[in-house]
Amino acid sequence: MENSMDHNIISDIFGTRVFNDETMQEYLPKKTYEALRSTIEEGSELPADVANVVAHAMKEWALKNGATHYTHWFQPMTGVTAEKHDSFLGAESDSHAVLEFSGKELIKGEPDASSFPSGGLRATFEARGYTAWDCTSPAFLREDAIGTVLCIPTAFCSYTGEALDKKTPLLRSMEAISKQATRVLHLLGETDVKKVNVSVGAEQEYFLIDRDEYLKRDDLIFCGRTLFGSMPPKGQELDDHYFGSIRERQASFMKELNEELWSLGILSKTQHNEVAPGQHEMAPIYSTANIATDHNQLVMEIMKKVARRHHMECLLAEKPFAGVNGSGKHDNWSLVTDTGKNLLSPGKHPYDNTTFLLFLTAVIAAVDEYAPLLRLSAACPGNDHRLGGDEAPPAIISIFLGEQLEDIVEQILRKGTASHANKAEAMDIGVQTLPNIKKDATDRNRTSPFAFTGNKFEFRMVGSSMSIAGPNTVLNSIVAEVLSDIAEKLENAEDPTSAVDEIIHDMLKAHQRVIFNGDGYSDEWVTEAAKRGLPNISNMVEATAYFLDEKCIKMYENQGVYSRTELESRAEINYEAYAKALNIEARTMVKMATKQYIPAVIRYVTSLADSINKVTEACPEADVSVQKELLIRCSELLTAAKDAVLALREADEKAITLSEGKEQAEYFVGTVLPAMEALRAPIDTLENMVDKKLWPVPAYGDMLFEV
Ligand code: ADP
Ligand code: MG
Repeated sequence: MENSMDHNIISDIFGTRVFNDETMQEYLPKKTYEALRSTIEEGSELPADVANVVAHAMKEWALKNGATHYTHWFQPMTGVTAEKHDSFLGAESDSHAVLEFSGKELIKGEPDASSFPSGGLRATFEARGYTAWDCTSPAFLREDAIGTVLCIPTAFCSYTGEALDKKTPLLRSMEAISKQATRVLHLLGETDVKKVNVSVGAEQEYFLIDRDEYLKRDDLIFCGRTLFGSMPPKGQELDDHYFGSIRERQASFMKELNEELWSLGILSKTQHNEVAPGQHEMAPIYSTANIATDHNQLVMEIMKKVARRHHMECLLAEKPFAGVNGSGKHDNWSLVTDTGKNLLSPGKHPYDNTTFLLFLTAVIAAVDEYAPLLRLSAACPGNDHRLGGDEAPPAIISIFLGEQLEDIVEQILRKGTASHANKAEAMDIGVQTLPNIKKDATDRNRTSPFAFTGNKFEFRMVGSSMSIAGPNTVLNSIVAEVLSDIAEKLENAEDPTSAVDEIIHDMLKAHQRVIFNGDGYSDEWVTEAAKRGLPNISNMVEATAYFLDEKCIKMYENQGVYSRTELESRAEINYEAYAKALNIEARTMVKMATKQYIPAVIRYVTSLADSINKVTEACPEADVSVQKELLIRCSELLTAAKDAVLALREADEKAITLSEGKEQAEYFVGTVLPAMEALRAPIDTLENMVDKKLWPVPAYGDMLFEV
């Protein structure tokens, strides 16, 4: 029978711009294909002659599809992607073009990318940085105004081999967890496993607004988020947007986005409106961590590009509008063996599924032990405004297990082992014709930053604009570290079977404080978490210190993920990134207040004064108390705003004289940030008083409801 997928748009375009397995088989001689596959699967070294053949095939494929250039596509520590384009034109070209691409050019590049932050790892005078092909993530073709470019996913490192990017540590952490998980599985008797893969699915939230409105606001243009603005009278309280039908314009955006993503082999699966008006989400089908990371970078880039084609702007900032639900990225994470077994799948009898319980315990222990590192991996200036807000996960790391697993954990804590599991109940909807559906064993606790969701963990703290490389590097590393402790214990145990039960029991006992199934948004939880000794790290600057925490450095070094110098460089980059972001925000606020808001308010109070004078003149007994009250109140707020502008300017000027690094970042968070809030307050109050016709920028309502 003919498969309906044969003529489906998804199957027609899926992966057409990817040098994927199918294309490789078509373009590569069998032997070369096999050599490349073994490099991809087993991590063996790629011989130079094989690389040459692969490069040639890749070039042929790219040229056939219209490519003129190739680029080593990499992910510097800025969190975005970078590339330097080279054309395929060879040195021999004169009257006719010779198109070249060698194995050497495929494997190694040397971009002059000295202006990317290196946190001191790479002084600009020794500008050498290298890009190295990550052959486990497929090359792809990107088409835009420049033409078609063959993009080769690469790692980026210094002359001395230090990682200058986000991909290298991620790949190292994937190797570390594979090694430790395999070691543990062998000790449990699962000796057929050779490798353990990390699977990741990143759900991406974003806002779409009209591009004309966007271009009227300096804060959106320069900072990606609004720095002023008050909630519209109709907020999200009605929840009518959530899962609402998708409007025409957004729908055409999503259609085009999906097609672009599918052609790049990105498994965009679900799309729906999110909680806030104007907010949406895209979820892909999960893939291997490094590929999922590359894909998510592409998703963000393509969302921006496609939105512009539809005369909209895609906002990826975590909290683009104060008081409106923010955007995150849910990082779904699991471990799958090369034999196809999901280690976090509870199976039918989770209570005697030792492998599952042991890996579950390892994750719980790792998350508790290294909670600050997870918090740090989700730290960026924008996310500080989201975490701990009323509708975002709190800044405290805790784990949600769901009723069934929590019960099993309790049994283990009580009796040493668990003997039964609460059955998933059938749900009674009360309508005969509807099918009986089983309740999921784990409910969706939306308030938990780290939730077990059936056969994976979901880390929800990550910010919508951030690369998921960092969070997954942390998860892989910390779980690898705990697994290596477990392996050591098992290796030294006389009776491994009883040792496993003991390890599970003891670890759960030591780390049960991190398990929390209640409402993570409540104030009581903040108090309770403090009692339990769980860290509550409120901002990026505070979190950054953990790059230099001795226990964390040791863990990273043990796992071969980061060296001490690499961590020092990351701390420096974080401090600088924070200071830079706040400096831009502070200046933008000063400019907007001085050039737009204050003049508008002056115009308004002048019109009030004119009105009072004219009305009184025309009719002395008329009541002008409304105008007078408004005039007095607005004038007061105007003075407050002017004072706040001066204070902010002064704070910012002082900040930039401080030496770069921790001290400066602390000044920004401690002094400049409150000065920003102090300026915002009177302006936002004025927005609700001043004649809308005089207000110089689009209001929240204009941007969120009229797209
Ligand atoms: P939910 O709707 O509960 O968030 P979904 O099943 O739709 O759950 O999955 C959300 C995301 O999690 C998707 O990106 C999906 O691909 C990913 N995901 C599902 N299973 C796994 C897994 N085993 N490992 C990693 N990610 C997964
Ligand atoms: Mg989710």
